[in-house]
Amino acid sequence: MRSIIALGSNMGDRLDYLNKAKKQISLRVGKITGESKILETKAYGYTEQGDFLNMAISVETKLQPEELLDTLLEIESELGRVRTIHWGPRTLDLDIIYYGDKIIKTERLKVPHPDLHNREFVLKPVSEICPEFFDPLRKKQVSELLLDLRK
Ligand code: ATP
Ligand code: CA
Ligand code: CA
Repeated sequence: MRSIIALGSNMGDRLDYLNKAKKQISLRVGKITGESKILETKAYGYTEQGDFLNMAISVETKLQPEELLDTLLEIESELGRVRTIHWGPRTLDLDIIYYGDKIIKTERLKVPHPDLHNREFVLKPVSEICPEFFDPLRKKQVSELLLDLRK
């Protein structure tokens, strides 16, 4: 299954965290088949914190969605993430944006990511990788969602 994952970091050596995360994803999740450029963005939500580096990748994985989430949470904590304030500073944030065109709504996992349509730092990188991908919840292509957000 192809999954789209968003990566973000706003603490320490941000570029190094993104690179280490990609390395671990390729080892433990599957082959990385697409990669966006890196974007520098102001923090979202809790804004009294450092700027983020954000990017997105596509990965071909045999993991089930819950296993994928567990693996990403493991990689986050191995790379030093400490969970304090919601939307607060973090060495690494790995979010599942899409898992094929599956819709998942459990306590632990919501896919497509529920807030992606409000986030330029998600939509811009994702639309570099797969502009024509059809969002199964919003019933629009990723490139259209980005245009809507910018209106
Ligand atoms: P946001 O999801 O709004 O970007 P966040 O990334 O700061 O917020 P976290 O503290 O990183 O939130 O994650 C909290 C929990 O969100 C995770 O433990 C996980 O169970 C849950 N979660 C739900 N849907 C997803 C998803 N699509 N990708 C990653 N985590 C998810
Ligand atoms: Ca996030
Ligand atoms: Ca997260």
